[in-house]
Amino acid sequence: MSIDTVQLEALLSEARDIVLIGHLNPDGDAIGSVTAAWHYLRSRGKFPKIILPSPYPENMSFLEPDGDRILICEQDLEEARRLVAGADLLICLDLNRLARTEYLEKDILASPAKKILIDHHIAAELDRFDLAFSTIDVSSTCELLYWILLSTRDIAGDPQRIPLRCAESLYVGMMTDTNNFSNSVFPGTFEMASKLIARGVDKDAMQEKVLSCYSVSRTRLLGHMVKDKMVILPRHKAAYMLLSNKEKERYHFLPGDSEGFVNLPLAIASVEISALFTENADGQYIRVSLRSKSRVNVNRLAVRFFNGGGHRNASGGRLYIPLEEVPAYFERALDAYPDEEKFS
Ligand code: 5GP
Ligand code: MN
Repeated sequence: MSIDTVQLEALLSEARDIVLIGHLNPDGDAIGSVTAAWHYLRSRGKFPKIILPSPYPENMSFLEPDGDRILICEQDLEEARRLVAGADLLICLDLNRLARTEYLEKDILASPAKKILIDHHIAAELDRFDLAFSTIDVSSTCELLYWILLSTRDIAGDPQRIPLRCAESLYVGMMTDTNNFSNSVFPGTFEMASKLIARGVDKDAMQEKVLSCYSVSRTRLLGHMVKDKMVILPRHKAAYMLLSNKEKERYHFLPGDSEGFVNLPLAIASVEISALFTENADGQYIRVSLRSKSRVNVNRLAVRFFNGGGHRNASGGRLYIPLEEVPAYFERALDAYPDEEKFS
């Protein structure tokens, strides 16, 4: 995949104060893409800053820049706002709407900085950026960033020139967003993986650090959810699970612990849609995670009924109702979901 990077090169050359911004509840692709961009920009002599709206899972901390702290809005919003206001280039990664930054939408719009988007979600807000790289024909933002970097002047099509730490971040973002090569995998995804491994990324080490890193209590919580909480709705070929704050406390829940739970019911032959509803720590809303088998579209379901969006087979959103009202709401949403959208 060859990408025109003329405008990008110009913006990068001019920029002094670059800020890289990811989305709320950052996942592997969000952390992978901001840190990959950081490592790349450092190799070009820049000193970018990273802002994430909320904390990221501990298992991703090895991707962090050395000697530079990732700024978390929920810990220091004033500083995040100051950085955005003072930047001359803002690069948003892995988010299609500025609202996904939760706290910074107005600040980003008000900032005099040039704005770049690098993202792989449906319906990105292209008109809010000076330059946008947006396609859904890649596995992840990290994959898109890989193709962009290959097209830059200094990498010049040679993956061996990608800094190793950058390559690791790219690999981890792609690996997590594809659920370890099980969905949204394109021919180019394997090509990228192969080139990054040849570059020196230790695939087994990445997998162990990121996917085999959980506590005993997290695995017990997983068992509890599948055994005691999974509800099957045969008429809708759907399954759902509710995760309350009480359960999170009982199982010493840490950010990232429920990663992957929502995929498990899809292993059942008769289940085509799976949902995980998680009470937010401050109890203000319910986080919604939706997954589907390939022929079913959950993006439209997320947009229509769950104040969210995402991808065809992996979407998310929020509900502002008590947890106990969620099952009835979910069934009503499935009843009202038009077939022409469900199978679109
Ligand atoms: P997850 O279920 O892993 O949290 O999210 C799955 C996908 O849905 C991700 O690609 C994510 O970007 C998208 N997503 C999750 N939450 C939201 C949300 O609140 N709004 C929108 N627009 N997309 C979301
Ligand atoms: Mn992503």
